[in-house]
Amino acid sequence: KDININAASGVVRQEKFFPDHEALVYGDRAWTYADLVEDVRTYAKALVANGVKENDRVAYLGLNSANFLIITLAAWWVGAVYEPLNFRLAPLEVEDLVKRSRPKVLIVENGHQEVIEMIPSLDVLRESTALIMVDNDQLAPIQREVPEYFQMLSAFLADGSNVELADPVERHESDLGILMFTSGTTGVPKGVQLSHGNIWWNSVNVDSLVDTRRGDSNLAVAPLFHIGGLNALTIRSIVRGGRTIIRRTFDPRQTLRDIEEYKINQSFLVPAMLGAMQQTDEFEKHDISSLRALICAGAPVPPVLLEQYKTKGVNVQQAWGLTETAPFATYLPAEFTHLKPGSCGIPMPYTEVRIVDPATLQDVETPGETGEMWAKGPNITGGYWENEDATEAAFCDGWFRSGDIGYRDEDGYLFVVDRLKDMIISGGENIYPAEVERALAGFPGLTDVAIVGRPDEQWGEKVIAVISCKPGENPTVEEIREYATAHVARYKLPKEIVVLEAVPRNGAGKLDKVTIRSIASMR
Ligand code: ATP
Repeated sequence: KDININAASGVVRQEKFFPDHEALVYGDRAWTYADLVEDVRTYAKALVANGVKENDRVAYLGLNSANFLIITLAAWWVGAVYEPLNFRLAPLEVEDLVKRSRPKVLIVENGHQEVIEMIPSLDVLRESTALIMVDNDQLAPIQREVPEYFQMLSAFLADGSNVELADPVERHESDLGILMFTSGTTGVPKGVQLSHGNIWWNSVNVDSLVDTRRGDSNLAVAPLFHIGGLNALTIRSIVRGGRTIIRRTFDPRQTLRDIEEYKINQSFLVPAMLGAMQQTDEFEKHDISSLRALICAGAPVPPVLLEQYKTKGVNVQQAWGLTETAPFATYLPAEFTHLKPGSCGIPMPYTEVRIVDPATLQDVETPGETGEMWAKGPNITGGYWENEDATEAAFCDGWFRSGDIGYRDEDGYLFVVDRLKDMIISGGENIYPAEVERALAGFPGLTDVAIVGRPDEQWGEKVIAVISCKPGENPTVEEIREYATAHVARYKLPKEIVVLEAVPRNGAGKLDKVTIRSIASMR
């Protein structure tokens, strides 16, 4: 219980023995481990000078950057809790999260100050939270006057120049390391508390199953404010002495070029990213076979994608997890991808998974029969930030109830079916949209598809496909139904289609079902 598992200490250890090894690449700059630790120390000193103490929150609002990770490690150095905020949030949403979490410092990247300026209770907030503006050198310089209540980064860092910084504070299993609000795709955002133990055990799980080696290059292009971007591989890579190439935002062609140029060995990507890369005219052109661990999770993974990547010598490995599981609960090792296509794998070595009937709370024993996926293990959150009701509802006898529906096959391999909350009940039948979306993913000319229910007097809910197409394509509902009949029962197929320019997805590339449902209901 008293082992120091602070990732900031781990990075200092790498710096001691491998100071010249590359740690980060961002924009035109590379950081060796010596450079990285120097920058982390500078930020940590500034946090101390600004009164940040153990367990205080340090919030960050911005896109992926080297600063993002440097500030994460600086917060941990001083024992603070890192709170990355979704940069797509509206002012009222940021206000809500900041009010609830009360960070001591909120660091805002240049370009996001308008969101802060529009917060109605900004005057009150400023009394307890210092606002710091990062002028990111990857961006155009700040064009207009920054309100005086923002402290510029240079001044903030200068504050720390006289601080005598001690070694990173010891952090133990139950000490809080990350406060991360879920995207709220299923309701009000909940603050997931992840301890240093949760963060560390995810890395131990990954060490035991994922084929990665010392000095591997990791591509961090999924949003770092999500657990998949931050802790699936990235924190682990830095602590293990690997090299992380950070990309500010996702560009499908650039990602293909990056994998080839930097000989990327490992990356966490969401299915929408894999799909977008496959649809570019550069997919065939680039050699991406350096990838030994291309891990894909966060949303249903269409099997057709797995096939397309296989032709390029890459076994896409599906995983399953949530913010609450930091993030991996299951994982399909590369050598099994061809045996179990579509499976999200087996439980991680230190994480148990059960399939439970939500009505009786008994285990589902029959292979193929669906139930709710429950998980237990040292990587799983202790509960939600100041929300006992939500915590109580999410746990049962120490097991975390994921809200996802899944099943085991006869060999024990797990398959995710859909979210319990997205299930459509039409004519008394349960329909899992993800199953229909998967079946339609390969329909020629379609660029994206979401299946939702629309309230309907006759059926209870009516199945609607919300789609986007390549230019010039104009499929009919009959063609779409015809295509999918071989794969799914007819009663599950859409009765109507709604064509949009783009099907709404959130920052993590997940279908934004709340918005899509309301669009489908208005048509
Ligand atoms: P909220 O919990 O607020 O709705 P969210 O969806 O962003 O927000 P995350 O923790 O980011 O929450 O995502 C976890 C969810 O992603 C899982 O519950 C599951 O529905 C989905 N997911 C993760 N991996 C897979 C997978 N391999 N296949 C299908 N769905 C997956």
